[in-house]
Amino acid sequence: MNKVDYLRISLIDRCNFRCHYCVPEAAKLDYLLQQELLTYQELLTLLKEVFIPIGFTKFRLTGGEPLLRPGIVDFVGEVASLPQCDDLGMTTNGFLLEKLAKPLFYAGLRRINISLDSLNPEIFDKMIGNGGKSRWQQTWQGIQTAYEVGFNPLKLNVVVIRGINDGEILDLAALTIERNWHVRFIEFMPIGNNKLFDETAWIPSAELRDRISQKFGLIESSIKGNGPADVFKIPGAKGTLGFISQMSECFCDKCNRIRLSADGWLRPCLLNETGQINLKDALRNGVDSYQLKEQVGNLLFLKEEINFKERDRGTNGAYFRTMSQIGG
Ligand code: SAM
Ligand code: SF4
Repeated sequence: MNKVDYLRISLIDRCNFRCHYCVPEAAKLDYLLQQELLTYQELLTLLKEVFIPIGFTKFRLTGGEPLLRPGIVDFVGEVASLPQCDDLGMTTNGFLLEKLAKPLFYAGLRRINISLDSLNPEIFDKMIGNGGKSRWQQTWQGIQTAYEVGFNPLKLNVVVIRGINDGEILDLAALTIERNWHVRFIEFMPIGNNKLFDETAWIPSAELRDRISQKFGLIESSIKGNGPADVFKIPGAKGTLGFISQMSECFCDKCNRIRLSADGWLRPCLLNETGQINLKDALRNGVDSYQLKEQVGNLLFLKEEINFKERDRGTNGAYFRTMSQIGG
């Protein structure tokens, strides 16, 4: 088994966007109440007394939209200052970054992944489910601010859906030529009974690589991240291109992460709830850190190979949580 030392922490299930690939149109979201969320104090206790002692050193804050959680800057400061925290990142939609990028950077955050599915405001708004004033400009400004403040690496996450934004992959890839940005194309996964997903909507990474390679050429990059992306670059470019191909290529044997939802569920994999434990309930019921370490340690052995293509169509009733609820 690969060493599992990376915890993705969802801070909140709410979001200010409603991306169709993440929250299917038909999904009815019952948001968690404040008291159902793990508090920052509980999260810090879990990090210091459970995860760090059993060897976790890498943490990523996500959601829903993590920047919606009040007190986020101070919490980032607390986690970043833990001596055993080697690596702290955040995944955000960037909409609130214009104001928050600087305070987050000063609090100690350095790695940031920002979702940006399109450079075309109309397509972008369609994808994030926005019918009002366009949100593209403020998101783009958030990315620029994060860049100017000095976030490094700065990664842009793009979920590619045929017929919606696949016409833009060359323009998105070209962003890396003059900027030290890392654009990562993520294969669309069928999570939460998403009717948008079908065999034609999903595009395998190999096809994207071919299309980009024909236009710009593509070479393997020596820069590798913590994660599952296959990393390439356009010759001479300052940044890189990553391809996350969980649908077309199983990388479960290399997986080093587990996920904690905002309401305390710790699961071995995005699509695997086997043996999941609720750490919030455990803490609130007075389970001590010795027992928690044992329970978390046991859960690591439940990581198994998953066929992402077959696993979740919402048909078996077990995986109706949307990506925003699981924590992406
Ligand atoms: N709100 C933040 C954001 O959008 O970056 C963080 C949470 S979001 C769930 C985390 C990542 O999951 C995003 O990069 C998003 O594009 C990705 N994601 C959501 N639904 C997906 C799906 N069905 N297939 C592939 N990636 C998905
Ligand atoms: Fe919100 Fe991120 Fe999901 Fe979009 S992908 S709905 S921004 S949680």
